[in-house]
Amino acid sequence: MSEIIDNEAFFKQMKDLLGEEYDEYISALSSERTRGVRANTLKISPEELSEKIPVGAKIPFEKNGFFIDGIKLGNSPYHHAGLFYLQEPSAMLPVAAIAPYLKGKILDLCAAPGGKSTQILNYMQDGSELICNEVVEARANILASNLERMGAACTVISMSPSSLENKYPEYFDAIVVDAPCSGEGMFRKEETAVRDWNLANVKTCAARQYEILKSAEKMLKPDGYIVYSTCTLNKVENEEVILKFLDEFPYMQPVEPDENVRKCTRRGFGLSETMRIFPHTFNGEGHFACLMKKHAETDTVKIKFLNPFSPIKAEKNEIERILRDMDVDLQMQDLGIFGDNVYIRPSDTGIPQGVRIFRGGLPIIQLKNGRGEPLHGLATYLKKGRCNKTVSFPAESKEIDAYLKGEAIQCDAPFGGYGVIAVDGYPLGLVKSNNGILKNHYPKGLRKR
Ligand code: SAM
Repeated sequence: MSEIIDNEAFFKQMKDLLGEEYDEYISALSSERTRGVRANTLKISPEELSEKIPVGAKIPFEKNGFFIDGIKLGNSPYHHAGLFYLQEPSAMLPVAAIAPYLKGKILDLCAAPGGKSTQILNYMQDGSELICNEVVEARANILASNLERMGAACTVISMSPSSLENKYPEYFDAIVVDAPCSGEGMFRKEETAVRDWNLANVKTCAARQYEILKSAEKMLKPDGYIVYSTCTLNKVENEEVILKFLDEFPYMQPVEPDENVRKCTRRGFGLSETMRIFPHTFNGEGHFACLMKKHAETDTVKIKFLNPFSPIKAEKNEIERILRDMDVDLQMQDLGIFGDNVYIRPSDTGIPQGVRIFRGGLPIIQLKNGRGEPLHGLATYLKKGRCNKTVSFPAESKEIDAYLKGEAIQCDAPFGGYGVIAVDGYPLGLVKSNNGILKNHYPKGLRKR
């Protein structure tokens, strides 16, 4: 890609920004896109994952991440089993920067499709709670599905930052603001995106980013941390947003992240604590991140929380029967009923009045007329070897392929009724065993096409 693409204004911006490095940047745009994976440590260690899929070198700032070359892994049974998340390597930078501070109440404010949220899950300290927000409802659906695949019970909400800010005054210990942006960092090989780039859009994005960041500040506790990030390269959406923000909120101060995060990134332009990755300086796409701490003392505002779940009463016996039958170790206090479903509740705090819940946790059982049926989330919640009613097949087997396509499988399973089908022991989904046939319960929307 070069100036042959008709967008003089964009290339001029990059030349002004990069000076002598401009030519290197231009040649990097013509090279292959880099890809990455991150082990989901709720299910597998990075070492074990590297024995299952062909990974390349480790990503220097993300202990669970690897570069991958060329291979497509979206249809791998291990991907369906939630053992890893496919994520562009540079996109792992912001969470790596805030990782040491991921404890207590955590908010991912612009969360879909879930790259940062699923990364946060692997760093959160015990007893922490992650709330994932995505304003666009169709995207909140993808986010909820990715969290379910990872086996995570988190609350997914769908609110604009401006309507959320008053619901959670100074509540969160850590907030990730991965803001919508003009996407210049992803321009490698995307000629249409380059062609469509214009300065007016950059300015619109910057104005929106500033408003989102201000909402985040309102929700951050004193001594809490925010990481702001974009996948764009210009100063307007990056340093200029941060400088204006620091000016308006002088108690917010930039923080230098750990050395292993810093060493792969470039210092910001005129704001040395910020970090940038350019496609020509790292084996990844472009990204920007800035970690900040709130040095303020304020009065804690009391929030009135409501419990969105109905208490478990008459349903208790049926729920216990299914958990016993499926050999799942969950206590009633971990669960709640919302609509027809039983959920693993992320915490017992509840949700402030007026917050729109998209998904209140991990749905594991559906109740209908007093009878319960296990849901896919129950299988994703289970760890390897944690359910006696499991039938396991190798990744390359015809049985796993048939399962992922939604087909029934011939198999004399050592159990009747509901059970789990696993790939190399890692739970993949539910089956119902009867007379040598495993009926397929893999959700239609997840099946291989
Ligand atoms: N953090 C995500 C991840 O790592 O997978 C990617 C987030 S993406 C860069 C930005 C998200 O912000 C999109 O999902 C988009 O729908 C959402 N968004 C768009 N407009 C928004 C707004 N005005 N306020 C908050 N979020 C917005």
